[in-house]
Amino acid sequence: MQTAQKPQVSRGEAAFGHRLPNGNLICDLCPRFCELAPGERGWCQTRFNRRGRLWSANHNWLSILQFGRIESVPLVQYASGGIVLKLGSFGCNFVPQAERESFGAEVGSGRSFYPRDLANICMSLVKQGCIGAAFVYAEPLMWYEFLMQSAMLLKKCDMRVILATAGFVNQRPLQELLPYVDAVRFDLFAFDSAFYRNNMHVSFAEVLLALRMLALSDVHLEVTTPLLPGQNDAPEDIARIAAYLAQNYGPDIPYHLMLPPGQPSLTQMPPEEKERIMCCADAAGSILHRVYIS
Ligand code: SF4
Repeated sequence: MQTAQKPQVSRGEAAFGHRLPNGNLICDLCPRFCELAPGERGWCQTRFNRRGRLWSANHNWLSILQFGRIESVPLVQYASGGIVLKLGSFGCNFVPQAERESFGAEVGSGRSFYPRDLANICMSLVKQGCIGAAFVYAEPLMWYEFLMQSAMLLKKCDMRVILATAGFVNQRPLQELLPYVDAVRFDLFAFDSAFYRNNMHVSFAEVLLALRMLALSDVHLEVTTPLLPGQNDAPEDIARIAAYLAQNYGPDIPYHLMLPPGQPSLTQMPPEEKERIMCCADAAGSILHRVYIS
């Protein structure tokens, strides 16, 4: 644990925590169950013990806000052509601190922003085709309080709520959120518990539990594998994921291979990298019916 520095963002009390007899707090949002002494901040950098109460450091704090077509989430079998507000704060519970920048999860600049601001912007853009908000940057579940409050408000305004997550979260927070979510992009990096343990320091079993809960719910679900060169981009890695998805959720589940960070499109990639990705797509396409390179 790290000692909390002077808070640099707006804060709010956090949900899902309990107190130990020694006075420390346990955060129950994700399976890390960080134990926090007063002044300490959790692994994700977003939740901390402030004088015996659990607080969220990124509550009502916006790091990035963009417009985009829903296909850019990517979701391709849902609300085709719709415009969404894509947004995020800082906070990530699965990528090591040193690597967070490439996932947009670093603690950094931003501005205060409230759920009603988000709802107002969405409503003002309905005529331009806006259908709702997509919480897609860093790990949105580490922005839980803002996400939940915004989702409830957006549903009241008849707007859609879209979530992108790597699914390392406890069952109860996810269950409580689901009634307010319409569609999910689930990032499944590998079908390999050693990959998750060694690269992301999380339990693969917990990730699969979250995926199962989503697949059995009413939300529209698409699965994505963000390709990390040399780590999860061998065709046999992708075939293992595809086989698991087909066996458990049927071969029609939409599946995306997401190009590595910094690679804008397949056509601009060096030939050998492009060939590798095409081999991955072929491996997935031999098992699943709806495979996309995003
Ligand atoms: S949400 Fe953050 S503070 Fe809470 S258990 Fe997970 S990593 Fe730790």
